[in-house]
Amino acid sequence: MNAPVIIILGEASIPVARQIQTVIPEAVVYGLTNRTQSADLTYDNFGDTVRELFRSNTPILGICAAGILIRTIAPLLTNKWQEPPVLAIAEDGSAVVPLLGGLQGVNHLARQIAAVLHVSAAITTTGELRFQTTLLSPPPEYRLVNPEDAKTFISNVLAGATVKLIGEAPWLEQSRLPIAEKENGEWGAGSSGEENKENILTLHSPTLTIQIVQKNRTEAMQPPGKNCLVYEFDPESNSSRLPTPDSRPGKLAIVGTGPGSFAWISPEVKEILQSATDWVGYKTYLNLAEPLRKPHTARHESDNRVELDRARSALDLAATGRTVAIVSSGDPGIYAMAAAVFEVLEREAKPEWEQVEIQVCPGISAMQAAAAQVGAPLGHDFCAISLSDILKSWEVIAQRISAAAQADFVIAFYNPVSKQRTWQLEKAKEILLQWRSPQTPIVLARNLGRPGQTVKVKSLEQLAIDDADMRTVILIGSSKTRIVQQCQGKQWIYTPRHY
Ligand code: SAH
Repeated sequence: MNAPVIIILGEASIPVARQIQTVIPEAVVYGLTNRTQSADLTYDNFGDTVRELFRSNTPILGICAAGILIRTIAPLLTNKWQEPPVLAIAEDGSAVVPLLGGLQGVNHLARQIAAVLHVSAAITTTGELRFQTTLLSPPPEYRLVNPEDAKTFISNVLAGATVKLIGEAPWLEQSRLPIAEKENGEWGAGSSGEENKENILTLHSPTLTIQIVQKNRTEAMQPPGKNCLVYEFDPESNSSRLPTPDSRPGKLAIVGTGPGSFAWISPEVKEILQSATDWVGYKTYLNLAEPLRKPHTARHESDNRVELDRARSALDLAATGRTVAIVSSGDPGIYAMAAAVFEVLEREAKPEWEQVEIQVCPGISAMQAAAAQVGAPLGHDFCAISLSDILKSWEVIAQRISAAAQADFVIAFYNPVSKQRTWQLEKAKEILLQWRSPQTPIVLARNLGRPGQTVKVKSLEQLAIDDADMRTVILIGSSKTRIVQQCQGKQWIYTPRHY
């Protein structure tokens, strides 16, 4: 189940929405465009958005009239086993009405919200009111084996039957369920509900039993039926099925969207971006992927330079149970966010990050996209060097350029210049010319896969600072890199595979 969405129709609902977020921090506030100014995200069409959320099993907390939610979702109400929680909350915070999703914990959500708004939740499910528990939506470690029998079973308890409990179930023992007798231990021969029925049941009540069995049980089990609900207990399973929002371990996918073009985003990355609850990244990269964003996915933009803060907040967000995609251009492992995430993970090692599932999904790096435009300049040994001296000193960079030039690697220069760094490229050229011929072919690829793409081929001696900016990747050929003419006007660059 996804993290909840708080959907509002006007700015006046913001205070209540923010109060709700204090108890359900992973919930995102979704506001109607033009009617809200400070929502986390905006949407254009209420009906389409709510139905999309419903279909994607996203809990919907609507700060709006119950009627509008009911009418919007009505055509989709076909299977109560698959409904996400849907709640209506009054704009002034005076009412919290759980509408749908009883099997996915809507009453629990309603009570949480009502508590922070200092009102009572409008719980209407009789069984839950009477017994202070719901047999249909047990805690995550328990799975009801025969939900199809629950309706009759609950009706019978409501009609006055008492229940024999076999096994351990603190959530039932602490409830007001009329437990007439408790039998601990394993279900075995000679201890059936039938045998003890005189002791437990009132004259007119049917025989009712709730049995808790261990997962992978070896002992015999009472056949489940209308008079016997069976729950399977698996202490390991509270992450895998319908958990409460705060107990779910989150996910952090560190994805690369390639240099720009949609065609260069891998299917895996597309799928992750479409299913994430949150995107974290530099605005420009998020904009490139924007057509893939689902209405319920929140955008968290950050400045390009604050990688560590971005990594930290993505991990924090994932630790609250959300499915977070942290977005890099190109490949996320090449001068990008993946290393930043592992840096904070190692340095800060917050306990709440331990359960976060981390996944790195590769993308096409700028040097590969540049190479593909001109042929095969990376056809033999090559290396990449970033000319940015923000995280390493110029001495180190100069020494690496020199060593790479001597080793006759093809070199890809990332971050060749920026507004603040203008002299490094000229220096790099000087070092290269000590080891490489001035005629060495070079490729200057700018805005690859984006509007305004340019790819120029020059010789090393022609390299000038104006050729590059922070959206340019530069490939410097080795002594073997060649230019070949395919036909008039069509030339390719390649580095042969043999040396
Ligand atoms: N992770 C990225 C690199 C980020 S570092 C990747 O794998 O491609 C940023 C540098 O990458 C830029 O300064 C530029 O040198 C290069 N770059 C990124 N996208 C580019 C693009 N679309 N066109 C040309 N160069 C690009």
